Amino acid sequence: MLAPLQALIDLVLPPRCPACRRIVDGDDRFCGDCWQQLVFITAPQCARCGDPFDHDLGAGALCGACLAALPRYDSARAALVYGGPARDVILGLKHGDRQHLARLMARAMARAAGPMLEAAAAPLLVPVPLHWTRLVRRGANQAALIAAALRRQTGAELALFALIRARATPASRGLGRAARARNVRGVFRVADKARVTGRRVILVDDVLTTGATAEACARVLRRAGAAEVHVLTFARVVRHP
Ligand SMILES: [Zn+2]
Ligand SMILES: [Zn+2]
Repeated sequence: MLAPLQALIDLVLPPRCPACRRIVDGDDRFCGDCWQQLVFITAPQCARCGDPFDHDLGAGALCGACLAALPRYDSARAALVYGGPARDVILGLKHGDRQHLARLMARAMARAAGPMLEAAAAPLLVPVPLHWTRLVRRGANQAALIAAALRRQTGAELALFALIRARATPASRGLGRAARARNVRGVFRVADKARVTGRRVILVDDVLTTGATAEACARVLRRAGAAEVHVLTFARVVRHP
């Protein structure tokens, strides 16, 4: 939407809670009820996958899952535990016509990112792609909207189409870990190898569930020569909520 028109709408319509749509005091502010239900992910956490720990195990400590099978990405960080109002925000961006939510999500993600987004490393933002058929149906790729908001807020470089989805995948909701991994095998392709070679790639998505998508993307990005692959999402499913 054109910025002047958005500014006009902001003047006329009262701001609403990004999760429950109740009227609130200011833009991008949660109502008191929703705010209390948000669970921010903070240290201590697994150095690799970002799963939060109950107590501090020291710098660089890994969770049991990462010790058993090291993920192909260098690190994953998320702002919030998936569920409740965090889930409502994700669904609002995905299925509703509420693209301004990307701004708030990106702000929370930039805070949670830690060193992966440091400017000196020249991070390259790459959104997890949608297949074009789904893009046509939905009108926008939520990961691309968030990545564009992150670029505006952090100044990091954005490569919207560095990664493509070569085929549509069936919905993965309700599938277990192994089934999800099978679901995304061979699905992603690097369309712009020169852009990612030697770079620190920040893979951007709305939610991390089993990590199967992140793993599949990290695999092809590394094969294309990415020096590092980090994953940044608004929310994630935690193993020990
Ligand atoms: Zn609310
Ligand atoms: Zn871990």
